[in-house]
Amino acid sequence: MLKEKILYVDEIVLKRIESNFELIEKSGWYKLYQNKVDKSFWRLDEPEKYDLQMFVKLESVENWTDYNDQDLRIELLKEHRGLSSEKCKWKDCSKKALNNLVFCEFHAYKEMGIRR
Ligand SMILES: [Zn+2]
Repeated sequence: MLKEKILYVDEIVLKRIESNFELIEKSGWYKLYQNKVDKSFWRLDEPEKYDLQMFVKLESVENWTDYNDQDLRIELLKEHRGLSSEKCKWKDCSKKALNNLVFCEFHAYKEMGIRR
């Protein structure tokens, strides 16, 4: 399930991180956390004023700052918005557009900069 791999960070999620995770390391724009129970590693974005903060499960702790979570972010955008019955308006794209948008999750993310 996607929810077990990537989350939009809000007050509730921050509280969960505080009580269920241990801060392991800080590097650049990221913080590395380990789940106290299942020992899985997660990465938290440093909060930026206008940016969305995400909490992402890592497949490995090796090179944890370089882990590319873009596919997960795009999937989360799709899950969060939901799909409409319209087709994406991007040229030659055959995917469905997201609800209340004219583009699919891929083009919304990559071309429009929509993150949530
Ligand atoms: Zn598209």
